[in-house]
Amino acid sequence: DTCGLPDGSAGPASPEDTIRPSKLDEFIGQDELRANLRVFLRAAMEQGRALDHSLLYGPPGLGKTTLAQIMASELGVNLVTTTGPVLERCGDLAAIVTNLRRGDILFIDEIHRMPPAVEEILYPAMEDYKLDLIIGQGPGARTVRIDLEPFTLVGATTRLGLLTSPLRDRFGVIFRLEFYNPDELARIVTRAAAILGIGVTPAGARVVGERSRGTPRIANRLLRRLRDFAVVAGAATLDEGLAKEALARLDVDPQGLDQMDRKILEVLIGHYEGGPVGVKTLAVAISEEVRTLEEIYEPYLIQCGLIKRTPRGRVATAKAYAHIKKRMLD
Ligand code: ATP
Repeated sequence: DTCGLPDGSAGPASPEDTIRPSKLDEFIGQDELRANLRVFLRAAMEQGRALDHSLLYGPPGLGKTTLAQIMASELGVNLVTTTGPVLERCGDLAAIVTNLRRGDILFIDEIHRMPPAVEEILYPAMEDYKLDLIIGQGPGARTVRIDLEPFTLVGATTRLGLLTSPLRDRFGVIFRLEFYNPDELARIVTRAAAILGIGVTPAGARVVGERSRGTPRIANRLLRRLRDFAVVAGAATLDEGLAKEALARLDVDPQGLDQMDRKILEVLIGHYEGGPVGVKTLAVAISEEVRTLEEIYEPYLIQCGLIKRTPRGRVATAKAYAHIKKRMLD
């Protein structure tokens, strides 16, 4: 996916790719994960073997794809990327794994959404680097066993609990990604701004960092939108005042909650007296899919202590009441 430049060379695929860290040293935050990964990468290289199969899990936009790319680039191997839902038939997976070269990384995003039949042929591929394929149907069907090159499977999922246990057990390493703190996000914003040629003051970056829902992808997205405001305002740098003003216009509040986050709290409190409300009911009330609610919105609201998951449903905390009340007074 490259775009041709006037001189005929292939340019970067997208602005996202240019700001995506390609080495572990450029990756900010997730300190424990980074330290461990460094050890595992070095051990694999020193022993000349494929890195152990690794599972990355955590909310979207925290850098799972980025980390898979970093692993490949640190090891100097190819990265082949696919996603669980795309692998509809066993043949789809077979076509990919048989083409992997020694040490390559196969990255499967949303690995929990792979069909069961495809998942099953992945087990021997992970364990023994063998692929058992069934050719034909009925009485004439036979199994052929294909040897694969040693490779590393890197799986990504938003929720560990959605993985079957046989699949989970076949990963040598399980990395959990945490939300980033405002300080780390401010560093990510400062780094991205430098690459994109956007001037930002430390206080400006801090404001963006505080309001990015703990998520680098959101931080970078907000940075681009704020650049637009800066351009239109004729400002050379994004400072604290401009950042706050622009974020208010984008409807991002000081805690970083956006319209949908607030709608969830308002529905919980306004329509259901703070809960408990079942997740399906809540999803219908905010016109979103259950999966989106559970995987994108809830983790951050839970992390902030604004809602709780209970066996009987979702409950708004006292902090949520205070937040909504403050919004109404502001
Ligand atoms: P996931 O796969 O977990 O959904 P992702 O890897 O796709 O997330 P990205 O969308 O790549 O996350 O993250 C958005 C952007 O944020 C990336 O292009 C990258 O520039 C930047 N980024 C993410 N994590 C970090 C980090 N820890 N340090 C610096 N930049 C980061």
